[in-house]
Amino acid sequence: MRFRLRERALAIAVVVTTLVVIVLAGLQYRWSNRVSEATGVRLADTLQLSMVNWHLDFLRNFSEICLTMRIDRESGSEEDLRQYAGRFAEWRAVARYPDLVADVYFLRSTTPRPTVFRLNAPTRQFQIAEWPSRFQGLDELPAWTNVPPPGLDDLARGSRTDTTRLAESFVGEAVRGWRFDPDIPALLHRVGYDDRSSAGLSSDLQPAGWIAIELRDSVIAASIFPDLAHRYFQGTDGLDYQVAVVAGSRVRRVIYTSDSGFGQDEVADADGVMNVFGRAGREAPGSSFRVFHKTSENTGLPASAAISWFPLARQTPADEDWQLVVRHRRGGPLGAFVADMHRRDLAVSFGVLLLLVLSMAMLIITSNRAQRLATLQMDFVTAVSHELRTPLTVISSAADNIAQGVVNGRDQLTQYGSVISHQVRQLSALVEQILLFAGTNREPQRFTLQPVAVPELIDATLASAAGLIQAGQFHVDREIEPNLPPVMGDLVALSQCLQNLITNALKYGREQRWIGIRASVAQNGVNGRDIQISIADRGIGIDPADLPHIFEPFYRSPSAAAAQIHGTGLGLTLAKRIAEAMKGQLTVTSEPGRGSTFTLHLPFAEPLNRQVDVDASASVTQVH
Ligand code: ADP
Repeated sequence: MRFRLRERALAIAVVVTTLVVIVLAGLQYRWSNRVSEATGVRLADTLQLSMVNWHLDFLRNFSEICLTMRIDRESGSEEDLRQYAGRFAEWRAVARYPDLVADVYFLRSTTPRPTVFRLNAPTRQFQIAEWPSRFQGLDELPAWTNVPPPGLDDLARGSRTDTTRLAESFVGEAVRGWRFDPDIPALLHRVGYDDRSSAGLSSDLQPAGWIAIELRDSVIAASIFPDLAHRYFQGTDGLDYQVAVVAGSRVRRVIYTSDSGFGQDEVADADGVMNVFGRAGREAPGSSFRVFHKTSENTGLPASAAISWFPLARQTPADEDWQLVVRHRRGGPLGAFVADMHRRDLAVSFGVLLLLVLSMAMLIITSNRAQRLATLQMDFVTAVSHELRTPLTVISSAADNIAQGVVNGRDQLTQYGSVISHQVRQLSALVEQILLFAGTNREPQRFTLQPVAVPELIDATLASAAGLIQAGQFHVDREIEPNLPPVMGDLVALSQCLQNLITNALKYGREQRWIGIRASVAQNGVNGRDIQISIADRGIGIDPADLPHIFEPFYRSPSAAAAQIHGTGLGLTLAKRIAEAMKGQLTVTSEPGRGSTFTLHLPFAEPLNRQVDVDASASVTQVH
């Protein structure tokens, strides 16, 4: 009854724990989804900021040159040219990449083609030079007026970061009028009036011309871009992103790449794309960039625009901008990386939950076991007290009668004597059993294994139990197969084991008063070919729910306790331990109300006698 109550409490505890775990798992899942989404947005924002900063930092190298040269549309006089030479030398002295500038040219608009002046850096003089073939088409470019840096309108419409706003206020004026020609590559500035209609407005003005600052591709590709990639896309373990700067979409040219091969083909799963220079004019977009990231609220592709400080000089569609392309290094595109992180987060948190569940299950099982053991031990103490009290009362009253001279005659005295000796035998058997249990629990028992003849073993056991069998008026059916080979075992221990089984058959088989003892060879027994000795009764039988427990120490089935059948709950434990120590097994089949059969399976005798130490406290197993 107590076990049933406890089982119910246990079931409630398991249900409550399961519900709590399910709720926790649900919350964890939702929370993890949110965190993952927020992480995605944060990473996309960070990437966006990194791209803006990369852009500004890259163009800062150009802006510095423009700031130093301080060219405006009225520049171009002899004096101006001398000043440019001086300023250029100053710039080289302090520039981070002094080799960035290959040459400085002044192209004076003359017909049929411009007169080229090249700066001789050591002499600080502009000297007439050859028309560089790479400047092809430059003289045919339509003039541009000094409109404000293009792209500002786009900025006003699109998202505009604080950094770009700041940069705009600093650099806006100085870089006004500059353009970039990626084919040379060069920074170009128009000087003087180009517009023919304005000719004669001011005789001070020089004829139209160009200042061209030719840049070195190699410095940009091998120094500036790698430095920038490390500055803005660096993670804890190398670059977080694959970075490439490519030119042209029809004929693709990789100017810089952080990973060989990246950028060579169209990057379909890029996380961010940015036009580095952009086109001039209000109608054309500025240097636009896009960071791709999908969230549940934002399924589109957010686009932003950065300022085109140096719009492309040539406006034909054939002139293609440079493009910065980035893609997250781990897990492909950012979305996949975030999803991967999400999956890992979920796995870890569900792993932790699982651990929690397992520990709770362990805790419940252990505490349940401990509680059960404590109850069993208390039952044991009560049972032993009962077992002790009955013989002690009988002995004490018999002794009192003898002492008080109530007993008359020799016959009565003999009768009293046999009662006392029977009770004492029962007492010693009980004490023996408890000591044996304590002994097998503490240390391995020493058994002397030798061939034992089965009929001899059964007869010795029946002789020891004869008193009890007679007292209970039981009928014993003894059926031993002829010519049984001997078994391997310890005679005393095996007899003790069978005695426990017979005692139980006597205790639990009361009304039918029948015990069947059979010994035979089994061809396919538990140990293969072995000898089986079975003790059967037609008593109360065992409830299937009790079967898994009857071999546990101190366990007594509720029906046995209810029928007030005395016992300690140790008999079967000891019998099983002895059977296993003999390399055998003890099994049971039972039907409530119809009786039980306990079968001892023993191996055949081996030729040699030997002594073995057997850990009889090894775990008890059973076969039903
Ligand atoms: P005890 O008999 O002292 O209670 P045991 O370890 O010998 O302890 O048996 C454990 C339990 O197994 C018993 O309490 C009883 O419920 C059940 N049992 C053992 N043998 C039999 C049997 N022959 N018939 C019915 N029940 C049995």
